[in-house]
Amino acid sequence: MKHGMSQDSEHVSVLIIGSGPAGYTAAIYAARAGMSPVLYTGGQPGGQLTITTDVENYPGYPEGIMGPEMMEDFRKQAERFGTQVRYGLVTEVDFSARPHAVVVDGQKTIFAETVIISTGASAKWLGLESETRLNGRGVSACAVCDGFFFRGQEVAIVGAGDTACEEASYLANICSKVYMIVRRDEMRASQIMQNRVKNNPKIEILWNTETQEILGAEEVTGMRLLNTKTEKISEISISGFFVAIGHEPNTGIFKEFITMDEAGYIKTIPGTTKTNVEGVFACGDAQDHVYRQAVTAAGTGCMAALDAERFLASLEN
Ligand code: NDP
Repeated sequence: MKHGMSQDSEHVSVLIIGSGPAGYTAAIYAARAGMSPVLYTGGQPGGQLTITTDVENYPGYPEGIMGPEMMEDFRKQAERFGTQVRYGLVTEVDFSARPHAVVVDGQKTIFAETVIISTGASAKWLGLESETRLNGRGVSACAVCDGFFFRGQEVAIVGAGDTACEEASYLANICSKVYMIVRRDEMRASQIMQNRVKNNPKIEILWNTETQEILGAEEVTGMRLLNTKTEKISEISISGFFVAIGHEPNTGIFKEFITMDEAGYIKTIPGTTKTNVEGVFACGDAQDHVYRQAVTAAGTGCMAALDAERFLASLEN
């Protein structure tokens, strides 16, 4: 991409890419500092919290709050101070010179003095052909979005982390039975979450189990499983198959310019949100594979806005 290629262009001082807790917090701070930020939501406005249920660990909500509702609040707060929140997907960037060029939806080019990357992470998939073929036809990576379609029916969920436990519990409230497919003989999830699924009579945990195939021509009808200890293969009827095996950072479009670790998480200078490119900052899950919490994402979003503000101020001196 060459600067100025696009007919439709605009110049901004702070461009925020992504609309999770990190992006919106950066927007709140940048807007209140008078930097008139423009924020592009990306393909999943509100980010990962829009596909979760109760958030019980975000300070300030003693009774908990639903993830989508919390993100609505974040957006309103960002807009209240003048953030322009726009729907659109960043498809290309050129960070080789300032102002940085960012292309939205393959059409519009934004020239930005500073860019705040808060693109988060996305769900991982098992990689089975049947999983792709039946996606949206019984296969889902979001129990909260799609669980309702399987009310009163039998479903399965793969994974053994906090997400899988949380979603298994959620599904158990709606469905008649939930098979939880765990590939090892122990779970990675926190003890409290494990206890919740272990004590739920509607959840049956299948240990040492791998999914060989999701069955069904037009929609999910069952699954073929392998017990890796006994080497026994079994087929179980289900109508919904949920995948909750972790995430990967949404950082592919920045690869040419931004330094990342081997998993694709953006490297920032410790104690800051600065990347290897001047004027480009990263916050939230795009640069954090350790904590990955809404509150830590929000915290780094605040840092990114302050770093951007200081960077802009340094240009004026
Ligand atoms: P995690 O990376 O923690 O867990 C992923 C799970 O999926 C692991 O149990 C892993 O198994 C399993 N897995 C990975 N690949 C496969 C595969 N190909 N087949 C079968 N199983 C597979 O991801 P989560 O999304 O659960 O959690 C991410 C982070 O978010 C964590 O830090 C978690 O604590 C946090 N979180 C907190 C919540 C809360 O506090 N309310 C709610 C949700 C998430 P194995 O263990 O064998 O590697």
